[in-house]
Amino acid sequence: MIVIKFGGTSVGSVENFKKVGDIVNQVNEDKIVVLSAMSGVTNTLVGIAGHLRANNTEQAVLDIRSLDQKYRQVVRELLPDLIFQKTAFDYLDGHEELLNRIASEDFTEGSEKEILAQGELVSTRLFHYYLESIDVSNELVSALDFMRIDRNGEPRGDRIRQDLRKILKSGTANRTYITQGYICLNETNEIDNLRRGGSDYSASLIGAAVGARQIQIWTDIDGMHNNDPRYVENTFSVGELSFDEAAELAYFGAKILHPQSIIPAKENNIPVLLKNTFRPDSPGTLIHQGAEVKSIRAVAAKDNITAIKIKSYRMLMAYGFLKNVFEVFELYKTAIDMITTSEVAVSLTIDDTSKLPEIKKGLQGFGTIEVDTDLSIICIAGDISQNKKGITASIFNSLKDIPIRMISYGGSNYNLSFLVKTSDKLAVLNLLNEGLFQEMVDSDLVGI
Ligand code: ADP
Ligand code: ASP
Ligand code: MG
Repeated sequence: MIVIKFGGTSVGSVENFKKVGDIVNQVNEDKIVVLSAMSGVTNTLVGIAGHLRANNTEQAVLDIRSLDQKYRQVVRELLPDLIFQKTAFDYLDGHEELLNRIASEDFTEGSEKEILAQGELVSTRLFHYYLESIDVSNELVSALDFMRIDRNGEPRGDRIRQDLRKILKSGTANRTYITQGYICLNETNEIDNLRRGGSDYSASLIGAAVGARQIQIWTDIDGMHNNDPRYVENTFSVGELSFDEAAELAYFGAKILHPQSIIPAKENNIPVLLKNTFRPDSPGTLIHQGAEVKSIRAVAAKDNITAIKIKSYRMLMAYGFLKNVFEVFELYKTAIDMITTSEVAVSLTIDDTSKLPEIKKGLQGFGTIEVDTDLSIICIAGDISQNKKGITASIFNSLKDIPIRMISYGGSNYNLSFLVKTSDKLAVLNLLNEGLFQEMVDSDLVGI
């Protein structure tokens, strides 16, 4: 069994739906196809929910109508057979009716989540009709029948495994199941989601649940690049990555993977292959346990970081100080990304600032508190173990003109990260590309 996930661009047009159909058809084994919403749709749905929250029902209804028109145009081209067209149009009637009903009712957080789930429900339904129309037998499975999160928003692995295994039939070979990425049920059985970009996470959770041979993530680029192609020219695709390297890059901003999506694959030792839907022959990136050890693999950046510095002479020679500080973050369920300490101060970073006022209040008794915003963490992933010489020198030589706010090194062998102003991010990524990768690309240090 393999899991094959296609992102928004891969199912963003009629032509692309057909490409996805070709790729799926060439896989001669049982497969679960996980789809995102068509590109742009989740943003449209976020917009519709925003209008309803702001009591602008009129605009929401207009946007619902134009989304419906977009879908109908896709159906006309994707399903020329009138019988399939009729079935799809009937389905879209129900879909538009549902959104309009939600728009007419009182707006709640629950209605927002129900709206956001519709993108994946429609894309999978259209793909299911398309495969039927070209005589490829397949089964549409609702993610709402197995994908579950607990009250902390964390996936319930055992429950997912149990329910999914009940749904999948054994016996016939080469079955094709189609299901939605991103969406799930929460602990109160309401529709919820795995956060933006969450379809990658769905694919990995599904792969772990069924013990897949491989998880494939098909997107619009040839796998993981050595640097963020949105900000840097001359990036290149990295042939392989270890789970740890991929997990660090995903967590620290490589948008190609949802931040948590590598964890279930790593825990179950399932290789993850990143592939380009538009260049299926290019090798992509294989994330697996046996990845060859190389020095510097890739760089990523995570924005919207806030740094908190707690300065106190009570820290000098004292024990228990850090424990007390951490307890405040635990109380407000806020994850810390980076931490550095000196004798009299501790600096740490968070990206979720929803509880920042409470955290500041909680920390007040410990010393003076300084908060810095608009920062980015730059993560360099690779085998950066302490016994390799020269790597840190190359990194910081490239950045000699950039002010660096914090540095974290030595926590793991796979990551060196540092904090800069977001306004310096572009320069940092480009300097690292020139100073690190271009210089080292001919030597053996870069893991291409
Ligand atoms: P999908 O809709 O298929 O999930 P995403 O837009 O979420 O696709 O992820 C793919 C995009 O991630 C690429 O088009 C690219 O712009 C961006 N990206 C950011 N960092 C990297 C990186 N290091 N390697 C490859 N792509 C990256
Ligand atoms: N459709 C969702 C989003 O745009 C999930 C995903 O594409 O992974 O965030
Ligand atoms: Mg994505």
